[in-house]
Amino acid sequence: MTKHGRQRTRQCAYCGKHREITRDHVIPRCLFPRPLPNKMVTVPACNDCNSKKARHDDFLRDLLTSDIAGNESPIAQQIFQEKVLSSHRQGKSLLARIALDEAKETPIITESGYYWGGCHVAHFDLNRAIEMFSFLVRGLYFRLRRIVLPPDCTFDVRRLGSEDANKWWEFFKENQYNGPYTLGDSVFWCAYQYAARDDAITFWILVFYDRVFYRVVTMPAGFEWEPKTEHMV
Ligand SMILES: [Zn+2]
Repeated sequence: MTKHGRQRTRQCAYCGKHREITRDHVIPRCLFPRPLPNKMVTVPACNDCNSKKARHDDFLRDLLTSDIAGNESPIAQQIFQEKVLSSHRQGKSLLARIALDEAKETPIITESGYYWGGCHVAHFDLNRAIEMFSFLVRGLYFRLRRIVLPPDCTFDVRRLGSEDANKWWEFFKENQYNGPYTLGDSVFWCAYQYAARDDAITFWILVFYDRVFYRVVTMPAGFEWEPKTEHMV
């Protein structure tokens, strides 16, 4: 076997299995205008996880750039014009088609009964969004702490309006937090906390295009979060 043909067996940042790995861009390249930032965030990923996550790249781009808040960002507008509209013309992007045909602010209630936030789409695939944000958080956590989140931990994903985003950020500032970590000029930043007693308990703020705020909380399977009892770092 030649040097170039050999693939190393390492732990996949997403599923935690030891397999032949490739490098995966945690924050998809399609979210950035060209040229790309010099240092992108990459992690080792098995082929299964890599291709599963890649299927959501365009979905995430469409979701963020067609978001009412994201759409006010010049960078998001540029990407929407160049990528989403062109794929719409080619009939490739279902979400773009929906966003253009039926665009309106739609309140979305998650399975747990919370307001998801105004999204610029008529039909919204919540499970797909949760799966994509689970990949993002797993990748970021591995990159930042070299720890794989347990395969069965749960993800609570919410898009925050500006008022809730401020409250969530205040909560971060009252505690010790890690970050902020930025990638690209006005494209992405995040900060996170984790529970001292359990690595699977993590709190995240993910911000796209300086305007679109997402909150993600991870918990071990079967664990209920009580905000005041956790010591976060
Ligand atoms: Zn994997």
